[in-house]
Amino acid sequence: MAGYNHLYIPGPTNVPEQVRMAMNVCMQDMRASDFPDFTRPIFDKIARLFKNSTGRVFIYPSSGTGAWEAAIQNTLSPGDKVLMSRFGQFSTLWVDMATRYGLDVEVIDCEWGEGVPVEKYAMALKADKNHEIKAVFATHNETATGVTSDIKGVRAALDDANHPALLMVDGVSSIGSIEFDQDAWGVDCAVSGSQKGFMLPAGLGILSVSKWALEAHKTAEYQRTFFSFEDMIAHNDNGYFPYTPATQLLHGLNTSCDILLEEGIENVWARHNRLATGVRSAVDAWGLKLCAKDPKWYSDTVSAIVVPENVDARHVISRAYDVYNTSLGSGLAKLMGKVFRIGHLGWMNEGMVTTALSVAEMSMIDVGMDIEAGSGVAAAIRHFTDTSVQTGTKA
Ligand code: PLP
Repeated sequence: MAGYNHLYIPGPTNVPEQVRMAMNVCMQDMRASDFPDFTRPIFDKIARLFKNSTGRVFIYPSSGTGAWEAAIQNTLSPGDKVLMSRFGQFSTLWVDMATRYGLDVEVIDCEWGEGVPVEKYAMALKADKNHEIKAVFATHNETATGVTSDIKGVRAALDDANHPALLMVDGVSSIGSIEFDQDAWGVDCAVSGSQKGFMLPAGLGILSVSKWALEAHKTAEYQRTFFSFEDMIAHNDNGYFPYTPATQLLHGLNTSCDILLEEGIENVWARHNRLATGVRSAVDAWGLKLCAKDPKWYSDTVSAIVVPENVDARHVISRAYDVYNTSLGSGLAKLMGKVFRIGHLGWMNEGMVTTALSVAEMSMIDVGMDIEAGSGVAAAIRHFTDTSVQTGTKA
């Protein structure tokens, strides 16, 4: 089909041309004497973006799921009690992983569209006088429902209870896009991947750990090889890896970190908020609702938009793909057919967002939904033009 294909799924996200070009390098000797000159700055840049000033960063040739696994294996022991919550497909999968690992998982189930139940966590932690809970897990941004949780609140719950459990956070679809502060929020294991906020293809699992996680590692009893912290540290300390690194992806990561740092991570967060607010004003103008149950949960990286009961959201998505060269995100698991998602994260700007909205409108109208042509796009444009002076994008 003529013209560009448009990608508005919440990962993999669009890869900037600069990043694609940075990966277009010849194969390299990963044991060369100058290889550390290339790798060392990448670890520093990642630590700055996670705001981790006291721990260290691991970069695995895996996806985000691998980094979930690395966090568990390296800091916990079989049978350890952990506190988790489930309110979407990705939080469900992490619970599933922890269960398969033989952890003693206390799960709090919430409605899909809600986020981490901070008050319930606080009660469970206060009640755990013997400190049996070894780790508290929180999905920062539930990509399936478009819900962002209050990680600072989870840290406060731990501190109020004077509880030493580790704080494990899934930041796969938040870190590098929306506010995240590992130092300030006392996050012990912060998990991410390359294909969302970091604007790269999938293939890197990024795990940023606190000094307490490194301490916990010393007594953690799981067997580990591929994800082993000690093997990684032994090689990373010299700028190398224990096995063949994904060198091209590391080149891309180096450049994408530069792009984010040059924009300034706080500005990156502000841009995501501005774009997401534009999407939300469109959803409002369409007379539709988000899956997120309350504005406090609204995600600045992905919006899951609920269609009326007599409509199958899969038809909207296939219409967008087949006719308008555009990928929208599908509804996962029990949300299949009930929502379509717009990913508005990564290498994204106002023009791209309004394209996503216009294709969503055309597709919804095509499948017979009662949507006024241009209504959502107009609302988003109004938001962008009303706020463009403050954000400095207009002279
Ligand atoms: N956690 C969240 C919140 C995600 O959105 C995803 C993927 O979309 C994952 C974990 C799993 O990451 P990966 O697919 O990179 O293994």
